[in-house]
Amino acid sequence: MSYLLSSAAIHIFVYCWITMPKQKLTIEQVKKISPKTLLKIIQRAKNYLKTNDVWKDMCKEYNVDVNVIDLIPMKFGDLEVSARTSRGVITFSWKLLEGGDFFKNVHYVIHESEHFLGQCYGEHPTQGASDGNYLDNKDEQAGFQRQLEYIDD
Ligand SMILES: [Zn+2]
Repeated sequence: MSYLLSSAAIHIFVYCWITMPKQKLTIEQVKKISPKTLLKIIQRAKNYLKTNDVWKDMCKEYNVDVNVIDLIPMKFGDLEVSARTSRGVITFSWKLLEGGDFFKNVHYVIHESEHFLGQCYGEHPTQGASDGNYLDNKDEQAGFQRQLEYIDD
């Protein structure tokens, strides 16, 4: 009997959890998320990408192991744009956490990781997004290409 009761309770809990709409967080709430939780959010995205075909292809092209993603420094910060990669460090805008679900923004991780690989393992110096015409920028084109492949997958 107690088994039945507890399994019903779990069922209700799971049901509520699934149907509960993801609450939109304010930027103030987002900035209060503990560093430990932020790292967990980033690690979850990294672990997922290790199994993703687009990331696997990128690693093959740059001749690096898929686990290199664990070595890419990633953090959240105040940015005018959604994300940027500077000197091998990726920063995501706090805004990407406002929806309460970073996972739907993993395509930004793909885009910036392309820049990371280009900056750290590429054979030519990379061009900054604000450096010259954005649309003619080969490094930005590469980032967007990966992002589209990921979204289309
Ligand atoms: Zn870019």
